[in-house]
Amino acid sequence: MTIPLITTKSEEIFAAAQKIMPGGVNSPVRAFKSVGGQPIIFDRVKGAYAWDVDGNQYIDYVGSWGPAICGHAHPDVINALKAALEKGTSFGAPCLLENILAEMVIDAVPSVEMVRFVNSGTEACLSVLRLMRAFTGRDKLIKFEGCYHGHGDMFLVKAGSGVATLGLPDSPGVPKAVTSTTLTAPYNDLEAVKQLFNENPGEIAGVILEPIVGNAGFIPPDGGFLEGLRVLTRENGALLVFDEVMTGFRIAYGGVQEKFGVIPDLTTLGKVIGGGLPVGAYGGRRDIMSMVAPAGPMYQAGTLSGNPLAMTAGIKTLELLQKPGTYEYLDKITKKLSNGLLQIAKETGHAACGGQISGMFGLFFTSGPVHNYEDAKKSDLAKFSRFHRGMLERGIYLAPSQFEAGFTSLAHTDEDIDQTLAVAREVMSSL
Ligand SMILES: *Cc1c(COP(=O)(O)O)cnc(C)c1O
Repeated sequence: MTIPLITTKSEEIFAAAQKIMPGGVNSPVRAFKSVGGQPIIFDRVKGAYAWDVDGNQYIDYVGSWGPAICGHAHPDVINALKAALEKGTSFGAPCLLENILAEMVIDAVPSVEMVRFVNSGTEACLSVLRLMRAFTGRDKLIKFEGCYHGHGDMFLVKAGSGVATLGLPDSPGVPKAVTSTTLTAPYNDLEAVKQLFNENPGEIAGVILEPIVGNAGFIPPDGGFLEGLRVLTRENGALLVFDEVMTGFRIAYGGVQEKFGVIPDLTTLGKVIGGGLPVGAYGGRRDIMSMVAPAGPMYQAGTLSGNPLAMTAGIKTLELLQKPGTYEYLDKITKKLSNGLLQIAKETGHAACGGQISGMFGLFFTSGPVHNYEDAKKSDLAKFSRFHRGMLERGIYLAPSQFEAGFTSLAHTDEDIDQTLAVAREVMSSL
């Protein structure tokens, strides 16, 4: 790897892309805006690695934002997809593969008694909110600052100042009327949630959260937080919804709910269950899911939902994850990475905090501790940008934002971690 990195082809392609697609990308974070500099155009991925169009190789800790938990382009997944491809890409009619993946999800995720497949995490969250409202006959929802639930209008709410305020839209184009029913609270703040329930008696359909946050950087729940939400929602006749789009099949096979033993009423899934193809899902209690059309009156549909290719990639990926030792391995290598990064930061004199659970990790350039989005925002973002660029130039591909978690995979080896830490030492020493 040459420093500075030679990225001539990436630069040409991205320049052309900016003229024909907004910001040159189809999802904003990919444009590297928050770290600055040139985004890398990938050519191919395999195992723990990615190669760009200029031929540079990277150890990849983004993993397509989570789905690549078995390693990119796992041969078993590729072979299963090749076989499925021969039978056609989309039926628009029921297929057996849907039953198989549905049974796997129901067996794995404690809260899920019935499931509906959709095409993205965004779609899963939009649908689950409609279902929360349909089932309870209430309109308001509580979400947490810094938690991401896809780009649906009613989730695009930044927290107002103070403990908890009525939501104001985060993006132009989102009507105030839509977000006026979205209430927000700081993550890990049970008192704020209690107050919202008290101020809105009988009006709150439910609480939705990332049970471990990944979209504000990596923030785990404080002891008792999830349990407290379970009690509060029950007391107030509201539903508890875990958005496990990121954490499902990653933190443990059965997600955070299995790991921590707190069982929500409904769960959203995505990322890993699609094995790299576009899949989302929502599921939960049978009495609630029975409201979904055509079993019940709540409408939700999808032309490509449950398509045979996506189901195949999901089934194969979950099968691979079932092998004994999967989550122990992810935890082991990710702990080594996370502890190593913290140690190096300490030795090189940088304030930092962070942690990991299973194959998900984070590092903030602040002394911490980080319990919520406000804490996360105290990070030294300029330093993170320099760190990110330094790592990239030396062949380590990290998420291009301080406010994103990192991901490892079963394909990451001890040597990959050693190499990453050696590079991190070099970069942090030069910051
Ligand atoms: C990624 C993500 C989503 C959105 O999923 P998309 O497939 O990008 O629409 C929703 N919730 C969480 C927790 C996520 O991490």
